[in-house]
Amino acid sequence: MKKFIKVSRLAALGRIKEECVFLAGGTDIYVALNDGALACATLCDISPLKTLDGIKLKGKNISVGALTTFASIAKSAVIKKYAACLAEAAQEVGSPQIRNRATIGGNVANGSPSGDSIPALYVLKALIKTNRRSVAVEQFFTGPKRTVLKKNELITEILIPRKKTVSSFMKIGARKALAISKVSAAAALDIRGGIITEASIAFGAVGPTVIRCGKTGEFLTGKKLSGNVIAKASQIAAGEICPIDDCRSSAKYRRECAAVILTRILRNN
Ligand SMILES: Cc1cc2nc3c(=O)[nH]c(=O)nc-3n(C[C@H](O)[C@H](O)[C@H](O)COP(=O)(O)OP(=O)(O)OC[C@H]3O[C@@H](n4cnc5c(N)ncnc54)[C@H](O)[C@@H]3O)c2cc1C
Repeated sequence: MKKFIKVSRLAALGRIKEECVFLAGGTDIYVALNDGALACATLCDISPLKTLDGIKLKGKNISVGALTTFASIAKSAVIKKYAACLAEAAQEVGSPQIRNRATIGGNVANGSPSGDSIPALYVLKALIKTNRRSVAVEQFFTGPKRTVLKKNELITEILIPRKKTVSSFMKIGARKALAISKVSAAAALDIRGGIITEASIAFGAVGPTVIRCGKTGEFLTGKKLSGNVIAKASQIAAGEICPIDDCRSSAKYRRECAAVILTRILRNN
């Protein structure tokens, strides 16, 4: 690292001239520092920005501050009530030590297609707010580990519409804890009188960014959840993703797992 700055007020960011790498919980940053990847970087510690930490009801939305840790998200009654899939995803991140440090802002900014919060944010139709603009979550990611964030643009909060959908998240990793997802999935369903009126399905780690399965959602809309419907939906979803072979898994295994975890998620609803 070349230089270290600490900011305690959001307004101070505007006065920084050089390009910074923000430091939030540090769970990704410290790995990169150890690898020597940030040898020439100016590191800007944003952890003192306490106004960016916390979960609040804000009009028709839930506001999750960028510095909110996954431990806080996993135990939040508000998140469990209105965004259950995000609470479940938060509970699956790393280990207790990682969840106590890792922030949702860092997970989103990191832009990994295997970031566990991201499929949940897709199906919840979240809005990513920065110190400059608001971006719909689906427009935020441009490729693996690439986002629309510009020089010194800071994620400040994530807004989630407060709707009474049922939602759920599941992932498959090499172990039960401390495992990066081979495949992850989130689903949000609006069910009225036993009929699905809206369905949103997204998968992580099976494409360059998280993938929303539009055709699967359309297929489910207007139907009752039966064994046949779930089987057909899982088959359609497996055709909508584009997994690759890599060090963590094969494309074939990922495609099969995607169908299995969507079946499990839908059966639970
Ligand atoms: C052992 C281990 C296990 C892990 N397991 C999982 C797992 O199961 N699932 C999973 O999804 N992830 C996992 N991770 C990855 C990591 O914990 C997450 O990506 C974490 O959410 C990053 O948040 P952070 O606050 O630690 O970010 P940092 O490390 O501080 O920063 C990460 C990146 O985001 C940028 N950044 C941070 N905050 C902001 C902001 N507000 N605005 C703009 N840019 C910002 C930083 O500049 C940096 O580029 C694991 C990591 C480790 C080390």
